[in-house]
Amino acid sequence: MAGVLVFGDTVGGKLAPASLEMAVAGAELAQALNEPLNGALIGDGLDAAAEEFKGGFATLHLLEGKHLRPYTARSAIAAARAAIDACKPSVVLFPHTLETREWVPRLAAMLDTGLVMDCTALAAEGSDLVVSKPVYGGGVVGQYVVRGTTRLVTVRTGVLEGAAGAASGAVNKIAVAEPAAGRVTLIDEQKAQAEGGVRLKDATTIVSGGRGLGGPDNWHYIEEAAAAIGGAVGCSRPVADSGWVSSAHQVGLSGTSVKPDLYIAVGISGAVQHLAGISNSSTVVAINTDGDADMFTRANYGVVGDYKEVLPGFVERAKQIRG
Ligand code: FAD
Repeated sequence: MAGVLVFGDTVGGKLAPASLEMAVAGAELAQALNEPLNGALIGDGLDAAAEEFKGGFATLHLLEGKHLRPYTARSAIAAARAAIDACKPSVVLFPHTLETREWVPRLAAMLDTGLVMDCTALAAEGSDLVVSKPVYGGGVVGQYVVRGTTRLVTVRTGVLEGAAGAASGAVNKIAVAEPAAGRVTLIDEQKAQAEGGVRLKDATTIVSGGRGLGGPDNWHYIEEAAAAIGGAVGCSRPVADSGWVSSAHQVGLSGTSVKPDLYIAVGISGAVQHLAGISNSSTVVAINTDGDADMFTRANYGVVGDYKEVLPGFVERAKQIRG
């Protein structure tokens, strides 16, 4: 067992930006461990994404099959196992996404190996793999040594810098056999994508709403503001938990970590678990009736006021500017 295997991610057949973050993290680790670096993508029709997934990989494994899209955990696990069988890595990195959260723990159990999820830093100490991740609501950073012959790590996206490296030395296409039918039938992929609009973790502008919106009937204020600036829609956890919008929009420790140029937080108090997900935002704007809300400690700009009075003027002006 040797080598670092890096899984990228695709959206609609295109390479997701998090993939290059994984590639950079993988390259640094492979160098520190003095082991080869390989890449992998899972999907159906991966040629375009493979062109973009430049990480200086010795081999880029393309795990392909019509049954791999839309995603199911069973198919993803079968694909990942095919790549692991092909290159027998000592470390495998995955972007920490809603999907990998579901299937990578199952993969670890099947391989009977160690897994640490949602890591924000990776280091090699001799042959040991030491990873860091926020724990206790993000107030403490824990360090873990990952054990096992094929050590698995999911890496938080939007935290590390991504950059394209050299083209792959070789491309290995693997036709993944369809696993036997499972007990899960995917019925709402289309709905979730339509709702999502601009993909949250790749978005450069985000308008995010919290419990201060008062209820789902007011959610259109957030959607209109996001549409006016061509941004994605985010939310705090209570909003997702209450079912006002799907949990795919949740920003924060137990949601998505985002890295936009502009993050507008509307009616969000600024709990540490929410702030953990926006720490890499360039500019944060807070709109809140409570001038003492913690969100203002992170905000670069703030408006103390009722969103119902603030947002309509903002939307009108944004529409004027954008034409
Ligand atoms: P509140 O804290 O209720 O804040 C509402 C805000 O709206 C207030 O500041 C209020 O002043 C303001 N407001 C009210 N009316 C108006 C108005 N008319 N106009 C403008 N402002 C108004 N939370 C997350 O968001 N993401 C996570 O990933 C996450 N993970 C968690 C993980 C764990 C293990 C735990 C324990 C908690 C987690 N939480 C997470 C929950 C977190 O602790 C907070 O409870 C949550 O972020 C609060 O959401 P909120 O700011 O929308 O609601």
